[in-house]
Amino acid sequence: MGFIYFLLGTILGSFLNAVFYRLPRQMSAKWERSICPNCGHVLKWYDLIPVVSFVWLRGKCRYCHSRISFIYPAVELVMGGLLWLVWYVFVQRKQIIQPVPANLSEIIFLLGVVFLLWALVFIFLYDFKYYLILDKIVIPTILVAFVWQLSQDFSLDNLAKVTLGAVVGGGFFAAQFIISKGRWIGGGDIRLGALLGAMLGWPLVVLALVLAYFLGSAVAIGLLVSGKKKWGSQIPFGTFLAVAAIITLFFGYDIWQWYWSLSF
Ligand SMILES: [Zn+2]
Repeated sequence: MGFIYFLLGTILGSFLNAVFYRLPRQMSAKWERSICPNCGHVLKWYDLIPVVSFVWLRGKCRYCHSRISFIYPAVELVMGGLLWLVWYVFVQRKQIIQPVPANLSEIIFLLGVVFLLWALVFIFLYDFKYYLILDKIVIPTILVAFVWQLSQDFSLDNLAKVTLGAVVGGGFFAAQFIISKGRWIGGGDIRLGALLGAMLGWPLVVLALVLAYFLGSAVAIGLLVSGKKKWGSQIPFGTFLAVAAIITLFFGYDIWQWYWSLSF
């Protein structure tokens, strides 16, 4: 069953690649035939099988033999891996849903998690490549996160938890934005912070922020030491926030409990 989740994930990854390629080029994201960016040849269905086609064609276009970026199959594999994790964590370990979600609440839970993961991987890639957090993706995702949270627990308690999370997540970056007069971070970070809060709720949003700073510093130190970046160069922080959010979505509660069980 985990393998079926994985396969579905690779298909979602393939869809992510298509949207990712078309969005900044002002192409419509509708169901148009995919073409090779180099030679313009219309690709056949057997050129578009996630991962398999890339390996089969040894990373080259079938028609013009130009190199295809390994990012495409990597995204497909990552989405496959994340959907496998959905199965492992939420079906196997926590038993929040059944392997094939049976009732409406389980179906919404699964669809919500999958949508949020897809959006986070998209935000990760987009900020990494263009240093930009797209409102077009973040704002609808904030709405989905709210509805998803409340569909699981429709109570005043949960509404407070999610709202507080969004305010803390967004407010954390809004404060930095005001203090630095917009030099440290952009408005996109504020909205992404609010998304993390809505999705994870209070107090897990704090964990995600801490994780993002850990990851960000570790990578920044690595880049400085290896001489790939200099002091003061830009770091796409949304990339780290997205990774931290994914980790927290799967393991946040466990990490939180583990941390507080430590005695110092
Ligand atoms: Zn080609």
